[in-house]
Amino acid sequence: MEQENLAKLLEAEYHAVYIIDIKNAMIMLKQTTNYFNETTNQPMILKDFVETYLNQYIPIDNQNTLRQWLKLYHIEGLLKNKLDSSIIYQKQINGTLRYTEIKVFSLVEKNGELLKCVMIEKDINDIIIKERQHQEIYNKIKQEQDKLATNIETPLFDSKTGLYTQEYVYKICKERIQNNLDVTYLFMTIDVEDFKSYNSIAGVHKGDLLINYIADNIRTLLKGRDYAIYGHSFADAFIVILPYYEFGIKLFIANLLESIQEFATDLPIKLVFGQYVITDPQEELYLIQDKAVLAAKTCKGNIEKNVAMYTSELEEKLSASQLLVKDMDHALANDEFEIYFQPKYDVKTLTINGAEALVRWNYQSKYIVSPRVFIPLFEKNGFITHLDYYVWEKVCSYIRDYNINLPISINISRANMYSLGLQEKILELVNKYNVNPNQLHLEFTESAYYNDIGSMQKILRQLQNKRFVISMDDFGTGYSSLSLLKDIPVNELKLDSSFIDFVMEDKRSLTILKSIVSMSQKLGLIITVEGIETQEQLDLITKLGCDTVQGYVLNRPMPAMDFIDLLNKKEEEL
Ligand code: C2E
Ligand code: CA
Ligand code: CA
Repeated sequence: MEQENLAKLLEAEYHAVYIIDIKNAMIMLKQTTNYFNETTNQPMILKDFVETYLNQYIPIDNQNTLRQWLKLYHIEGLLKNKLDSSIIYQKQINGTLRYTEIKVFSLVEKNGELLKCVMIEKDINDIIIKERQHQEIYNKIKQEQDKLATNIETPLFDSKTGLYTQEYVYKICKERIQNNLDVTYLFMTIDVEDFKSYNSIAGVHKGDLLINYIADNIRTLLKGRDYAIYGHSFADAFIVILPYYEFGIKLFIANLLESIQEFATDLPIKLVFGQYVITDPQEELYLIQDKAVLAAKTCKGNIEKNVAMYTSELEEKLSASQLLVKDMDHALANDEFEIYFQPKYDVKTLTINGAEALVRWNYQSKYIVSPRVFIPLFEKNGFITHLDYYVWEKVCSYIRDYNINLPISINISRANMYSLGLQEKILELVNKYNVNPNQLHLEFTESAYYNDIGSMQKILRQLQNKRFVISMDDFGTGYSSLSLLKDIPVNELKLDSSFIDFVMEDKRSLTILKSIVSMSQKLGLIITVEGIETQEQLDLITKLGCDTVQGYVLNRPMPAMDFIDLLNKKEEEL
């Protein structure tokens, strides 16, 4: 090493050479680009260099400072790991970072301890900054290319059939409709009646062949007819949009029906066509498609009927749910959503030990709508996140205003489960209403758990740490129930009544239920059984050793004030 030519080692742009005398805590710094012997004009060798500049050593105050300095430059690490160089950055006085490259050579070692070394520092700030800029430009170009690729490739063609995807059909349909306001269009869905059964009897492969066969025939029949837009929606469903008065529609349908007769299969295949005339150019295409599908459903079970047009009678059926969706914001502002409580009872003593809050819609004060009707609609359009929050807040206010000191269960929809800030939202409420977190049982449906176990665990653990009680709703209706128990932080299992129904009929499920109960007891979980309607069922769950029961046999869900009266009466009795 010492014999190596220093000048070769140091290219012109190296800006500093340090000789570090570790033992005596001294550093020599030479900042020059001239590493040639001044008299011979030959490249200096390291030994010469050290000797030439030896008198220029700067003493450092103490060993500690020197150690820190060595650490800053990763010197020992470099030597130990026999690395050529490392890049470090230092903050400058003006706050910007400056990058330098460090090379280190050991000069004197004794018993494996480093006594003297040389460090060469090269300023590479400009290079790094240039590289960064290049990287940024590259990233930008790449991003744009990716965007272009996804724009063009993914949604345009469906990989299975090679037809346009539903999204793409929607897109060009919209344009077509907007640009031809004088033309009336017909939206048509085509699908195989009871395709699921066909698939399960004939096999998935044969099912796929059928889908492709239909796709090929649609393509052949509509080829060259520029007025028609068509694509594959999903599974066995296709969509076609064309001008309503196009005389070719009937012929197209007849030809497609005929072609299906030639598909090689032993099973009967029935194609159905649902039609809807687009009268409002602003109407969303997914709603239009829903209507065509609804029309198609009227063909079901009627061998003679393959084509159905959407009518206003059908509209009435649909409009009930659309009306609900239309009115939801107004209803929320108008306090049309009401909280009902269904008491929960201790199985052994049959005394009330809590309640579940269940929402009802007092629709325009005319009739009470069940959550089984509107919750699925609100889950689809996202309104559920607002409604849930409304219910939680109402519950907290009842707890505060009426001094309820029993635990109350609230339902948390899947949408809220995965929404950011769930924890903050609930914490904010308990703080606002001065409610003890462990008075709230948070019910998550079982199916929400196996989407993404990792994040579920995290979210639930955080909530548990804040002392909320976690409850797994509808336990036993999903698939992975038992195996979930050991991975997911829960405090309470709510067994669905369907489980109990099974047990009444089938001895084997009794064994399963027994093992769930004993396993949960070992894990310290509370077992609540829901939907208990008869004394017989109640006897069974008592025998099994379940903790809590909720069901019509003891009480139905009741308006909040009735529940509060019930609690007060109970207290007077005591
Ligand atoms: P869930 O969470 O499983 O609630 C229990 C359902 O069982 C309630 O139906 C309750 O009235 C019903 N039930 C109780 N005991 C019996 C019984 O003995 N027999 C029978 N057949 N049924 C019984 P409900 O109130 O109609 O609510 C239906 C579902 O709507 C709830 O099922 C829950 O998933 C949802 N839901 C209700 N309120 C809310 C809410 O505020 N937020 C959310 N996200 N969902 C809610
Ligand atoms: Ca529930
Ligand atoms: Ca339930």
